Amino acid sequence: MGTTAIAQRVVLGAGRSFSPALFANPHHPCLGSECAVPYSAARGKKSVNRRALDELKQQIPLLDYLQAQDWQPVRPLSGDRWMGLCPLHADRKPSFLVDPGKSLFYCYGCGRGGDVIRFAEIYHDVKFPQALALLRQWRGSAPPLQEVADFYRLQLHRHGEAVAYLLERGVRSPELIEHMRIGYAPGGACLRTWLLRLGYPLSTLGQTGLVTSLGYDAYVHRVVFPLEGNLYGRSLSAAAPPHRFLPGSKGGLYGWVEARRYPEVILVEGLFDYAALWQAGFHNVTCSLGTHLNARQFRQLCDGPRAIYLTFDADGNGSGQHAAQCLSRSLRERGIPTRLVSLPEGHDPNSFFVGGGKAHEFQRRLEEACL
Ligand SMILES: [Zn+2]
Repeated sequence: MGTTAIAQRVVLGAGRSFSPALFANPHHPCLGSECAVPYSAARGKKSVNRRALDELKQQIPLLDYLQAQDWQPVRPLSGDRWMGLCPLHADRKPSFLVDPGKSLFYCYGCGRGGDVIRFAEIYHDVKFPQALALLRQWRGSAPPLQEVADFYRLQLHRHGEAVAYLLERGVRSPELIEHMRIGYAPGGACLRTWLLRLGYPLSTLGQTGLVTSLGYDAYVHRVVFPLEGNLYGRSLSAAAPPHRFLPGSKGGLYGWVEARRYPEVILVEGLFDYAALWQAGFHNVTCSLGTHLNARQFRQLCDGPRAIYLTFDADGNGSGQHAAQCLSRSLRERGIPTRLVSLPEGHDPNSFFVGGGKAHEFQRRLEEACL
């Protein structure tokens, strides 16, 4: 085997630099070629496999990692870049610049910048090898959910029963299916077979919850929606439990990046409610995946000046309305104005539209919503 087959090894610090002008700002102090030591590794001492580093960075987009640490983009900039509060120092106005395309950050407040490894070093206050270990641990050897979601999306149009179910739930616009990246999990072992072929070990697939202990796909006959860090599956069959998530958090509010731009936001319980409203032209909608909001979702609702229109199910036992009233009280205590939207008894926003409700009728309900 010739030397070309050996992965290139580099010594961190020696000659390792970011290419200049990574950001539009020409006097960028840390991302320019002046920066000699991008990581805390002592110059010349630490030798790492560069290909492994590049691979790790590719597998962990900086933006994903930041968002997993609860970082939120606040203001878009040209070139698909974002500004937000700096997670590395006490920041009052957004000074933290993120370029998701290049997976690089720079803070105009504390003057620090770099890639995801550099971020992990500073954020967790660890040295380079520990930062790598933390990132590897965070990544696991599990398949990225994005990849799983893409696989399920391909299945959707191959399975008539899935498309029929979506139609039954009022989901018919291709634009909506694209927007929500809706897919279908047929079950059996089709996901498992595909992921094994891609080289993911079976043990890892079990740990993620994508595959059962018996080695079958965990999502069977379910319409699936990728969430931030999770996957929601709605069963087509009445015999199975209707809702399924992967182990772990359900994540933040659904579609929040889009919804948070509006001064008035409609909050619904379920993804099919979200779908019905979005399709009817209400893009200022978000979904909490249940009536109980986790701490992150609650913080998101409070992260700016806006009014919240709570549109939970009008179920016969009143549990949706009760949950809406409790949430409304908590939001008001934080100074967030709320309105309770009433629907005809026994309806949720999805069944309202599926049952023939029109956008202007829903609009009237919003206008009539009580304090
Ligand atoms: Zn900073």
